[in-house]
Parts: sequence; C-alpha cells; structure tokens
Amino acid sequence: MKLICIGRNYAKHIEELQNERPDEPVVFLKPDTSILLKKQPFFIPDFSDDVHHEVEVLVKIDRIGKHIDKKFAHKYYDEIGLGIDFTARDVQARCKEKGLPWEKAKAFDGAAVIGKWFSKAQFPSVDDIGFSLERNGEQVQAGNTSMMLWKIDELIEYVSKYFTLKIGDIIFTGTPAGVGKVIANDVLVGHIENEEAFSIKIK
Ligand code: ZN
Repeated sequence: MKLICIGRNYAKHIEELQNERPDEPVVFLKPDTSILLKKQPFFIPDFSDDVHHEVEVLVKIDRIGKHIDKKFAHKYYDEIGLGIDFTARDVQARCKEKGLPWEKAKAFDGAAVIGKWFSKAQFPSVDDIGFSLERNGEQVQAGNTSMMLWKIDELIEYVSKYFTLKIGDIIFTGTPAGVGKVIANDVLVGHIENEEAFSIKIK
C-alpha cells in the first residue's frame, strides 16, 4: 500500500510558509514504513531540530482504480480518518532550496500517523468536515474540508491520473494553518468533528 500526500491544499497554510499558490495539487508519497505503529510514541529523529505537526484528513481507498472521474470518485472510499504528516521542516527547507525531493523530510519512519477510521456516512458531506489538533490541551490547528483548494473527489481524480489507486491506499489531503514544532513530552490529540481520532506522545 502507499500513502499519497497532498501539499499546499489550504490557502492560509500556504501563506504561513510563504509558499507559492500552486496551479495543480502538490503530490508526494510516503512508504508504508513511515506509518507510526499503533499505540507507539513518536520519536523525534536525530537528523532534525524542527519537526512540525501537520494534521490532515485521510481518505482510505477501498476499490482499485485509474483515471477516476471526480463524478465517480465517491465510489472509491467509505472511510475518512485523521492523521499527522510529520515534517522535518529544517530538512525540507534544505531540500526546497536546492530543488530536491522532500522524502527525507517527510517519509522517514514514524512520520505518518493514522488515527481511527470513521464511516463517511456519519458526516453530512465529506466537503464539510471540521477537524482540529490539540498540543498539550491547547488547540493549535483547526480546519474544515470546505476550505480545501482541491476537494477530496478532485484529489482522487488528479492523483489517479498518475498512480493506480489500490485497496488500502491512503490519501493525506493537506494541512490547514497552525503547523508548529513538537518537543519531547508533548501530547498531540486529533479530533474529527467531536470524535477523538488519535492521541500521540512525543519522545
Ligand atoms: Zn502535509
């Protein structure tokens, strides 16, 4: 399985990192080895002094497909989740400066948190799902899928032009504003609407 991640999908997050607004979605992959094992803490890797949390809505693909039209994209997923795209911002800045790929900054072991899954039927619309991240009890990120530059079904259409989507693949749909550094002993708790999706200890 693969994790397909979208960058720069919320206008305010693009502003906070002073990135250019893209004409097309920014796409990168994480390998399955980047998935943080259930109930394990996240260990800050020794190659970074600036690991950031990025809370993101996740979509789990449950049908194989390629060149999926956005009209039919909703048939390719039944579950929505919440996770973190941990990013070594200092490593990423060096990669960006040189125009190099981002994998060392985003695809390392443990860099993908995948929380609980929820049936999409429990949300009135997948394009209006509120979510948030608390760090040590204080809300640091909050977003709503209505604020995405490219909505979930548009992302499926876009990424399936390049990659065959397989059962179990997960799409990370991008982070809203409020990303920030994590330090040892932090606790990160994610909520999707009123449901707790994950609680992660940083070490
Ligand atoms: Zn991200």
